[in-house]
Amino acid sequence: MIYDRILVRYGEISTKGRNRNKFIDRLRKNIKRALNDYPNAVIQADRDRMFILLNGEDSDEIGKRLQRIFGIQSFSPAIKVEKDLEKMKDAALELFRKIHKPGQTFKITAKRSDKTFELDTNEINYEFGSHILRNVDDLKVDVRRPDLNLLIEVRKEAAYISAETIKGAGGLPSASGGKGMLMLSGGIDSPVAGYLTMKRGLEVEGVHFFSPPFTSERAKQKVIDLSEKLAEVNGHFALHIVPFTEIQQAIHKQVPENYTMTTTRRLMLRITDAIREKQGGLAIITGESLGQVASQTLESMYAINEVTSTPIIRPLITMDKHEIMDIAHKIDTHDISIRPYEDCCTVFVPSSPKTKPRLEKVQNFESYFDFEELIQKAVDGTERMVIKPASERKDDPMDDLF
Ligand code: ATP
Ligand code: MG
Repeated sequence: MIYDRILVRYGEISTKGRNRNKFIDRLRKNIKRALNDYPNAVIQADRDRMFILLNGEDSDEIGKRLQRIFGIQSFSPAIKVEKDLEKMKDAALELFRKIHKPGQTFKITAKRSDKTFELDTNEINYEFGSHILRNVDDLKVDVRRPDLNLLIEVRKEAAYISAETIKGAGGLPSASGGKGMLMLSGGIDSPVAGYLTMKRGLEVEGVHFFSPPFTSERAKQKVIDLSEKLAEVNGHFALHIVPFTEIQQAIHKQVPENYTMTTTRRLMLRITDAIREKQGGLAIITGESLGQVASQTLESMYAINEVTSTPIIRPLITMDKHEIMDIAHKIDTHDISIRPYEDCCTVFVPSSPKTKPRLEKVQNFESYFDFEELIQKAVDGTERMVIKPASERKDDPMDDLF
């Protein structure tokens, strides 16, 4: 074991004033859950940083887990040393020998928050640099672009030595900022929108509209599989499956074909809003991106959005498809999203949906039918399931026996 701990630097939570403790506590819980299968690792949180004491656990493996957790700016595997100059120099040299590869240049970067320490930062740089140069052959210093940057940090309680700073996922600790309902189709966009919203600390629940028998069980499974990926962030993901067949059939009877898409979206939004209210959410999230398809022109959004004054968060609104796809690859939802199964909206999609629907018209078409009752029925018939991440799913060997 090279390192004995990982130093975790908080992201924006340091700017959160009063809420700070709550944020730190949430981050600590999220890290603890992510490290569930490393029972020896111990988390020590204080106001401006966190340490994960490895107690023999592998720092690379734990680092991989940490990289996915929101609220972490960066982290560094490190060793803790007593504040005794000779011991510190020996520890630095020992660490250096373990990680240095022949030909690599290096430098020392000292940080000193304990101003009573016998050396200042320049002196630390010099002392440690020359100690290592004396003891390792054919070594060059490069202060501009070193291959290895040995960080010596002298704090009140001890000194810490580390050699790399690994970028974290940024954002805010998950589930620290209220709840929103994600309209989750089986497409590429909405899972990405959900992920980005979670990154800002929101707790997200999915709402999926399902129209059997026009859409198959496999289409539903796809959304469950996407939810499993989103569940990686918080350890679980609640998914609401809304029975939508009856409403879609009613729309097709009541509304002229070129306006069915607009009405469908309006009703989806109304139902999502009702579920949101029941679940105590404060926002709705969609994967809409401006101009991408007929329902995502500004005119369409204006006509659709009219049914609610609940904030609608559209994280992808100005993104290009390729930018969205890059994120989908990163969060591992892309390959699930491109499975070919039909979605409720593609089955009923009109041949020429209005790209510039007029609000008065759609209101007029909808006024001849009482959708309220069907909306209530759909909300009542909604199934809520709580999905676990695939990585945590414990396949019970007993299952096979029954
Ligand atoms: P996506 O890739 O997310 O499906 P898209 O580019 O295919 O988006 P649309 O099909 O027009 O665009 O959908 C726009 C948004 O409406 C989606 O991002 C999603 O938030 C919501 N939506 C569409 N279909 C459904 C559905 N069956 N259930 C829940 N939400 C849906
Ligand atoms: Mg879609």
